[in-house]
Amino acid sequence: MNKIQRKKTRRIYIGKVPIGQGAPIAVQSMTKTDTRNIKATVRQIKQLEQAGCEIVRLAVPDMNAAKILGEIKKRIKIPIVADIHFNYRLAIEAIRQGVDGLRINPGNIGDNWKVKEVVSAAKDKKIPIRIGVNSGSLPKDLIDKYGHPSAEAMVEAAERHIEILEKQDFHDIKVSLKASDVLKTVEAYRLFSSKYDYPLHVGITETGPVPEGVVKSSIGIGLLLLEGIGDTIRVSLTDSPITEVRVAYEILRVTGLRQAGIEIISCPTCGRCEIDIKRMVKRVKKALKDIKEPLKIAVMGCSVNGPGEAKEADFGIAGGKKQGIVFVKGKIVKTVKEEELIETLLNYINSYKSSFTNF
Ligand code: SF4
Repeated sequence: MNKIQRKKTRRIYIGKVPIGQGAPIAVQSMTKTDTRNIKATVRQIKQLEQAGCEIVRLAVPDMNAAKILGEIKKRIKIPIVADIHFNYRLAIEAIRQGVDGLRINPGNIGDNWKVKEVVSAAKDKKIPIRIGVNSGSLPKDLIDKYGHPSAEAMVEAAERHIEILEKQDFHDIKVSLKASDVLKTVEAYRLFSSKYDYPLHVGITETGPVPEGVVKSSIGIGLLLLEGIGDTIRVSLTDSPITEVRVAYEILRVTGLRQAGIEIISCPTCGRCEIDIKRMVKRVKKALKDIKEPLKIAVMGCSVNGPGEAKEADFGIAGGKKQGIVFVKGKIVKTVKEEELIETLLNYINSYKSSFTNF
C-alpha cells in the first residue's frame, strides 16, 4: 500500500498522547454512562482502555458532574476530555479537577471576561481546547448567509471560535467539523485543512446503529484519512463505545495508518463450504483477542480455493468434508478433523510466534 502523505499540522498533547505533526492517529471515544455515576463511568472507561481507546470524552452536564472528574481521573489511565456546552463555570471546575482537555466552543461561552477566565485557566494547566463545530447547531446568521448549514458555513463557524482563542494568544487548539451527512463533513474538513494547520479530530456525527453507522463512518473518516487529513478519530455509533473503538481501529488498519492485533481474512462462503465458518471466525477472534501485534489469520471455507485466496495471511485454516487444513504463509502444513482445526491453528501460532519478526 502506498504510504499516505499526512497533512502537516501542529502538535498538541492531550495528557501524554501526542496529536498532530505526524503522531500516530489517536483513537477516541465517549462514555455513554451518566458521568455522575462514578462506578459505572470508571467501569466503562476501563473497558475502553482494554479495547485500545487512547482518549476518552465525558459529558459534563452540570456542576455535580464537573466536581467528580478528578475522582474519575484518579481511577483510570487514559486522558479525559470534558465536554462542556456554554457554561464557563463548568469549564473552570473541570480544569481544576485535572482534566486533560476541554471540548467547548468559545463563541458560546458568552461575555468576554468569561472566555478570558476559561482560556487563562487552560493556558495555566497547558490544556488544549477542542472547537467542535456541528452542522446542526450553526449560528443563524451563517445559515442565512449560506442558505443552509453548508461546509463553508461550518468552516466559518470554526474560524470565529478560533479567532476568539487566537486573540487571547491561545493556540493549543484542535478542531472538529461534524455533520451527519458524510460528503458535507468531508468537504468541511477538506476546506478547513486547506486553510489551517490546527490538528483535526475527525468523525461523522449521528451516524446511527450498526451497520449503517459503521458504513457512514468508514467512508467519511476513511476518505479523509486517505487524503492525509485527520490527527485523531472517533467513530460515533448508536452502540457500545467499545464497538466504536474496534471500528476505529479497523478503519486505521484498512487505511494502512495503524496496524495492531489480528486481522481476520475470512471468505463469504459458498456452495463449496462444508464447515461452520461463522462459528469458527468467532472462536478464532475470541481466542486471539489479546494479541496486540499485527497478524493476519485466514479462515476459509474450502481447501480448494482457501489457501490460494488467502495467500497473504500469516496463518490460516480451510474447511473440507468433516476435516480441514492448516496453512502457514500459503503452504499447507497439516490436515486435521474439523473439530481439531482451531486448536491446531492456535498451536501453530504459538509455536511460530518467535520466528516472525513482526510478532
Ligand atoms: Fe467458496 Fe471456498 Fe471461496 Fe469460501 S474459499 S468462498 S468456500 S470457494
